[in-house]
Amino acid sequence: MRNATDADLFLALAVSAVVQVKQVHGAHAIEAQEAVGAEADAIVGRERGTAVGIRVADCVPLLLADELSGEVAAIHAGWRGVVAGVVKAGADLLGGRKLVAAIGPCIGPCCFEVGLDVAHRIAAASEPERVVASAHGDKAYVDLRRAVRAQLRAAGVADDRIDDVAGCSKHDAVRFHSFRRDGAKSGRMLSAIATRVGSR
Ligand SMILES: [Zn+2]
Repeated sequence: MRNATDADLFLALAVSAVVQVKQVHGAHAIEAQEAVGAEADAIVGRERGTAVGIRVADCVPLLLADELSGEVAAIHAGWRGVVAGVVKAGADLLGGRKLVAAIGPCIGPCCFEVGLDVAHRIAAASEPERVVASAHGDKAYVDLRRAVRAQLRAAGVADDRIDDVAGCSKHDAVRFHSFRRDGAKSGRMLSAIATRVGSR
């Protein structure tokens, strides 16, 4: 949210810090304790009191938790990450047998226009789900949220265990940052999740 600070989020999660990495639009997943200075797009937190987070402005923020272990993952899934398989990489590293997921606000199919080549690559990574909302000439509108949901399903997370925090980042200038709308001056939104390990 544009009107919330990192401090607000830390307070809500009851943590003093959120582990983050240098995001590079790839499919590398790492453990939180390896995150300092690392390049990755998925971070897994296992220790009590650990929070992991990623920053987005149009890309899809994805948070995972294993209800049995209380361990968590934060995943940055732009189209390049989706094509590279970052959702599976993050879910695989997290492991766990009872995963729940939350997909946050991202650029919607109303606004996410890409070249047909990119649309085809996202579609191939999301089969059998249909993620191309419409095509016109050499451009297409793609539903990235739906692509991430398809990859979650492929990773074994059932539809009824996936929550959507709705909203199109480009459309909603009041609530969300958007790189496509604001370019280089765009801010980023932090999505974070904390472990629930041991007794509190
Ligand atoms: Zn939109």
